[in-house]
Amino acid sequence: MSRRTQVVVIGGGQSGLAAGYHLRRLGLDFVVLDAQTTPGGAWQHTWDSLRLFSPAAYSSLPGRLMPAQSGETYPDAQHVVEYLTDYEKRHEFPVERPVRVLGVHRDGVLLRVETDSGTWHARAVISATGSWLRPFLPAVPGRAVFEGRQLHTVEYRSPADFAGQCVIVVGGGNSGAQIAADLAPSTDLTWVTQRPPRFLADDIDGRALFDVATSRRRALDEGRTDAGGVTSLGDIVAVPPVREARDRGLLARRPMFTRLNSGGVEWADGTRAEADAIIWCTGFRPALSHLAPLQLRGRRGHIATSGTRALSEPRLHLLGYGDWTGPASATLIGVGRPARETAREIAERLG
Ligand code: FAD
Repeated sequence: MSRRTQVVVIGGGQSGLAAGYHLRRLGLDFVVLDAQTTPGGAWQHTWDSLRLFSPAAYSSLPGRLMPAQSGETYPDAQHVVEYLTDYEKRHEFPVERPVRVLGVHRDGVLLRVETDSGTWHARAVISATGSWLRPFLPAVPGRAVFEGRQLHTVEYRSPADFAGQCVIVVGGGNSGAQIAADLAPSTDLTWVTQRPPRFLADDIDGRALFDVATSRRRALDEGRTDAGGVTSLGDIVAVPPVREARDRGLLARRPMFTRLNSGGVEWADGTRAEADAIIWCTGFRPALSHLAPLQLRGRRGHIATSGTRALSEPRLHLLGYGDWTGPASATLIGVGRPARETAREIAERLG
């Protein structure tokens, strides 16, 4: 038996909840389907010491400020989980979990959403599934030969798992820098990045990044020259643990190696480093396999959008996947605006 609603939101992390907030304000009927057993999206699975790169007030979803975390300028992931749990509860959003969406299909004038616990029909679908479920690992020769432990950011929890070991952390973004800083005091650490790490000035955090993203959006909206996104400022926010490790000289970096061998890695000049473990902090791709039945991917494997709306399936919106679906949309504070525009577009289309 199929159930019906006007809008199915796939994913109950911050993006799905921000969508819920604006759908509710416009009086639309909707359901949020989330594969997790508890609220909080990806924040439930990050490493123990992760810190937000913005203060709480600058990490808020529409309609409710994130409260400050006692004693911390930059809240931890557990604080975000508590905030999202409270947000969902206060608004009494219709979230069903654990429900995994297996596929979205065209079905006449409706979209059919097949899940592991039944079928939904809707006039619009918002995909808000994030990227945590699709870690990206680069193709480096010898990856299958290395006999030590290899893991991605998504599997890293705490330095206690690596005490006294030789660990190589790969990646020059925020995850790489924070995990390298976490491990540096208790392991024999090698931090490897493709280009020299670019720390933002110590007094710049996610607030400035959001401002840059906002001016970029304005420039693009007004047809002015794009001054460049947040990457024009740098790649790594110097949150206190990163700053401290850097200032203590614990974050010496080496360029990217060319291959792995059974016991470690090798650089082009023949030098080698032994490793018990390699942690790949090499990013993510959007988790979109549930959209495969719609066959929306173009030649480069990309789904073309206008704002958040899929160009070749106007009943589908993609929310929270990064600049591609709205500047800064893959951040807590940045997803509010595209969520509002998405709900407005859907309301207009549904009349
Ligand atoms: P998610 O939180 O991943 O939620 C998606 C939900 O959809 C999950 O519950 C998932 O289980 C569910 N789902 C997926 N597929 C399906 C399916 N087929 N069916 C049903 N449910 C499904 N942002 C900030 O603002 N500040 C920061 O400091 C910050 N730090 C970050 C640090 C790291 C290491 C990372 C990776 C990201 C960080 N971000 C930060 C970025 C961003 O806020 C997160 O990536 C955020 O989790 C994205 O939210 P989301 O709701 O889009 O996706």
